Amino acid sequence: MSFFVVDIALPVPLRRTFDYLPLPGEDASQYQPGQRVRVEFARQLLCGVVLGTRTTTEVPANKLKPLLARLDDTPLLQESDLALCRWLADYYHHSPGEVLEHLLPTMLRRGCELSEADERGWESTGQEPAKPLRGSKQQALWALFQQQPQQLHADLTAQGFTLAQLRSLSDAGVIRATQRLPIPPVLQDRQQFHSLNAQQQQALKAISTELGHFRACLLEGVTGSGKTEVYLRLIEQVLAQGKQALVLVPEIGLTPQTVRRFQARFNVPVALLHSGLNDRERLQGWRQTREGVARILIGTRSAVFTPMPELGLIIIDEEHDGSFKQQDGLRYSARDFALVRAHKAGVPVVLGSATPSLETLHNALSGKYLHVKLTLRAGNAKAPRMKLHSILHQPLVAGFAEPVLSAMHQHLQNNKQVLVFINRRGFAPLVACRDCGWMAECRRCDARLTLHQLPPHLHCHHCDYQQGVPAACPQCGSHQIDGLGQGTEKIQEQLTQIFPQVPVRRVDRDTVRTKQAFDDLYDDIHDGGSCILVGTQMLAKGHHFPDVTLVVILDADAGLFSSDFRGMEHSAQLICQVAGRAGREEAPGEVWIQTLYADHPLLNLLLDSGYHALALSLLQERQHQQLPPYSHMALLRSESEDRHQAQQLLHDARAFMQHWLQQQHPHLRQSPVNLLGPFPAIMERRAGRFRFQLQLFADERPALHRLAAVLVQYLDDQKQYRKVRWYLDIDPLDTI
Ligand code: ADP
Ligand code: ZN
Ligand code: ZN
Repeated sequence: MSFFVVDIALPVPLRRTFDYLPLPGEDASQYQPGQRVRVEFARQLLCGVVLGTRTTTEVPANKLKPLLARLDDTPLLQESDLALCRWLADYYHHSPGEVLEHLLPTMLRRGCELSEADERGWESTGQEPAKPLRGSKQQALWALFQQQPQQLHADLTAQGFTLAQLRSLSDAGVIRATQRLPIPPVLQDRQQFHSLNAQQQQALKAISTELGHFRACLLEGVTGSGKTEVYLRLIEQVLAQGKQALVLVPEIGLTPQTVRRFQARFNVPVALLHSGLNDRERLQGWRQTREGVARILIGTRSAVFTPMPELGLIIIDEEHDGSFKQQDGLRYSARDFALVRAHKAGVPVVLGSATPSLETLHNALSGKYLHVKLTLRAGNAKAPRMKLHSILHQPLVAGFAEPVLSAMHQHLQNNKQVLVFINRRGFAPLVACRDCGWMAECRRCDARLTLHQLPPHLHCHHCDYQQGVPAACPQCGSHQIDGLGQGTEKIQEQLTQIFPQVPVRRVDRDTVRTKQAFDDLYDDIHDGGSCILVGTQMLAKGHHFPDVTLVVILDADAGLFSSDFRGMEHSAQLICQVAGRAGREEAPGEVWIQTLYADHPLLNLLLDSGYHALALSLLQERQHQQLPPYSHMALLRSESEDRHQAQQLLHDARAFMQHWLQQQHPHLRQSPVNLLGPFPAIMERRAGRFRFQLQLFADERPALHRLAAVLVQYLDDQKQYRKVRWYLDIDPLDTI
């Protein structure tokens, strides 16, 4: 038998792969790329993925270890999946093994068998429950089986039922898991659907001619213009061609309403992947998609990695949303990766948004993407009327101007709902002593503590540090300690007093901790009746609240003066998204924005001429300053409890890069990559660590990536900075 080694990717931060000897007696043909193996690495048992075999190795013979087990006979991942991994590892300069982890659900990463997800479907046993079923969910589940004795697991989980609920019906002896496939499709009531208006028809026609090959399309449609309806029609065509569709949505956009809308339309299994699932449910969704059982996959960011054998279309709803970018570990953009994936698979990708990111808009305007617009709201809904209300020198009641309160009053009297937006949770953002000016600050961050009332405590929103509310000022002993300013808790309390006749609901991370809680709240809001919703950006995105006719934006000002170059872009997107919740049905909507800067030119441009006009103006500014999308950016960040070391690492990195660039381009007058910094992050200390950054800008991507590759190699070799954590963020979203 001839000598060979197996090339294996391991989930460790090292930017390389590893050679192991095969199991005794096995030959090279038994090792195929995409199989999982178990190996020992640095005295740990790890599960790795085979990338290939080789007949030579640079590892000395006495260091070569045999692998311990081969976990799969047939590869879990296809060559095309591995090619995508290679792209990710190269583009993000990341460890190939850690990249591979993103393609596998947790249970498979731990070495479990695919068959752990064997509940493909469930069927009723023909028995009646011996005793009444407990819980409305279980009863609802049982009712489904009485209508239709066989159900696909993916369908049930997509409807919000959990494996635990299914198991307890199974324990009660009324249903059992079944492997028999295919299960006949469940005939659902076809929800009545709209005939497309002229703009929607045009959009559909333009995009559907792109099916069958790669093309990026921006569907720029104002809020409520019926983008989802266009997605549904496209998916219909894709399904008819025997293909699968992938739909990516922002983290908080995945509501039961969204899912129901897809299910009601198509008689095919829909798989869901989001953070609210447990590991087994994720494995099930993954497996059903990979095996082609599920024809539509709806998911958040990480669903973009799910293998799909018959992919025909990718849709990214609210493509501008920040949640598509992962902010730790592999800092990938699911949107950007979806484009690469679509390109390799030869399928179109639709980026939908009312407020496209400047990157996407730039690509659409330059003709790189197909650009399709929906400028009118669908059906009978009209665009909401937006109004800036100056609060300069105005008396405020509970933070609201008098005319705003009376507008609220009117809408509530008409039995409508009012949404009050403030991006600050808690009771008060500051706690201070009236006698000496002391302020409660976080011990671990350059930040103030927020006062919360339920239960009373001080909380750092940056590092999660919590403490009790001091009875007396730690500086002067005075008891005159007060919360200053207002957060969602306080506004809820005050509005309850001003409007005692209507419920005032608060929607933020403190009241809505679980996906279930959000779903319940969503159903409540949809049941109608006048109420006030006080919420953070959790309320802003993509939701369809038919009875909301008035939106009040309490503090648009904070975002206007951000030091992040994307600050204005993000503020404008948020304002439009929040405003877009108003008047989505027949009743007209109104939006009031309270501001101290009613003359702010960009804010006025946004209100008078809309997001697109503002975006054009922002693009001009970016071009002038050579900022993305007119240049490409990477950010090297360092953080450490040792301030000096964190800074020094970046100084060294800068010196190294300058030297390397000079050597590479001795005759160029201007370097192909510009370096800025190092400078401290806006919040220099967070969770006890000092944070610094160095910005890299380049006109051409290849120049940036060549430099990044040698930079990470150089930093990997610097062993003197043991106490510093550093990482390179390619195409960073947050730059402060
Ligand atoms: P978007 O995704 O652009 O915000 P939606 O697709 O959610 O918009 O549509 C907004 C509302 O308009 C929904 O209630 C939807 O049912 C309705 N709608 C969509 N298309 C039409 C149409 N052609 N005629 C009437 N109503 C429509
Ligand atoms: Zn004091
Ligand atoms: Zn803190």
